[in-house]
Amino acid sequence: MAELSKKTIQQIQVDLKSGNTSCETLVSDYLQKIEANKHLNAYLEVFGEEAKERAKELDKKLAEGKPTGKLFGCVIAIKDNICYKQHKVSAGSKILEGFTSLYSSTVVERLLAEDAIIIGRTNCDEFAMGSSNENSAYGNVLNAQDNSRVPGGSSGGSAVVVQAGLCQASLGSDTGGSIRQPAAFCGLVGLKPTYGRVSRYGLIAYASSFDQIGPFTHNVEDAALLMEIISGKDNYDSTSSSEKVPAYSAELSFEKKARIAVFPTTLQSDGLNAEVKATVENILSDLKNEGHTVEEVGFDLLEYLISTYYVLTTAEASSNLARFDGVHYGYRSKNANEMDPVYKRSRTEGFGKEVKNRIMLGTFVLSSGYYDAYYSRAQKVRRILTDKIRGIFKEYDFILMPTSPTVAFKFGEKTDNPVEMYLADIYTVLANLTGIPAISLPLAEDKNGLPIGVQILADKFQESQLLAFSEKMMHIESSK
Ligand code: GLN
Repeated sequence: MAELSKKTIQQIQVDLKSGNTSCETLVSDYLQKIEANKHLNAYLEVFGEEAKERAKELDKKLAEGKPTGKLFGCVIAIKDNICYKQHKVSAGSKILEGFTSLYSSTVVERLLAEDAIIIGRTNCDEFAMGSSNENSAYGNVLNAQDNSRVPGGSSGGSAVVVQAGLCQASLGSDTGGSIRQPAAFCGLVGLKPTYGRVSRYGLIAYASSFDQIGPFTHNVEDAALLMEIISGKDNYDSTSSSEKVPAYSAELSFEKKARIAVFPTTLQSDGLNAEVKATVENILSDLKNEGHTVEEVGFDLLEYLISTYYVLTTAEASSNLARFDGVHYGYRSKNANEMDPVYKRSRTEGFGKEVKNRIMLGTFVLSSGYYDAYYSRAQKVRRILTDKIRGIFKEYDFILMPTSPTVAFKFGEKTDNPVEMYLADIYTVLANLTGIPAISLPLAEDKNGLPIGVQILADKFQESQLLAFSEKMMHIESSK
């Protein structure tokens, strides 16, 4: 079983088609392993019976010689902010406790259309706000490698279910790093696609102009295959792009020499752990040795990233979360019976502390008198950043930097200091602010064996190049 989860989706399909295993066996193995790893608190709900039924149907389909989908037999978990018809979805919040989705997100429809098996929904920080999974109303998710450490956030559950071999792959969402940072903390590949590459229909919104859904996998090949399926225009999301979706999984060879930009400021940053820094420096020198161009490019905007990100995302969140009012969805306070108190009390009791902090901050930066000083100024910084990045990609194929300044930290280490927690996102928010794709690759370990993630960023809609180059990097580093 442990080996099974390390196989690629394609390899598992070879096993399925040659009769070495069956969808039913795969599902029952995963269910056993999920049961044995309950303490990780990675799944909020396991769709056990349903997954078994579906496995049976899929096995029958294969036995009857009917055509099978590209994700045939692939056992997948989804983050608890991705809607799946007639299944509960709570965004890790008490305010959506007991709420059942009336429709499926486009990504879920697309997975199912390709014969994937959705095995459960995964724990996450409430409304995807957090960097450590310590903000879920349903408890912490434990890093499977070291239970005293966080798995990262906000898609911590989606990372741990793959890390611990409790499914083949999973989907998370990334507004400021929530796929890449947990992937880095758990030794996985995590991709945040270009804004608009993947439909957000059916994703519970945090900050709509930043949010993207993306995959967690053990390898680049599976990430490419999943991207090929979930990407593309969707009439239900007007921000989804009609840019053609390449066959990413068939385009994984990278023959040319890459031009790579490095921002010296990212390696001089205060909180950067020495081993993470050394890892990035070693990788850059490996790349040079392989004949790629690695050049330093001035980037003096690093110190503005976190504040810009938190002004804009909290502003958007304060608007998006207004709909959770105790009337439309989920939780309603029992301590109120008039309209205003119903809203007030339901929100006071239903939302957790971090979410309330952010709603208040977002309301403040949008309020008259402060709008120009915060929201409108942050929008200008976002534009400057986007122009700067666009200029860099005229000359370079990729930008390389750490995914996170540290390896997985201990529970409680940063909970008393929100600013320190926010600084954990210093390298990830750039891609969301500028709408570009970025991937975290598990390229090294620190002296204690904890995974170190390296991040590669590419120009808009260059996922094909990004994935191919990532595949190359995985080989360069594993052959050392
Ligand atoms: N850690 C970041 C935040 O708290 C990113 C979250 C995310 O990408 N959903 O906002």
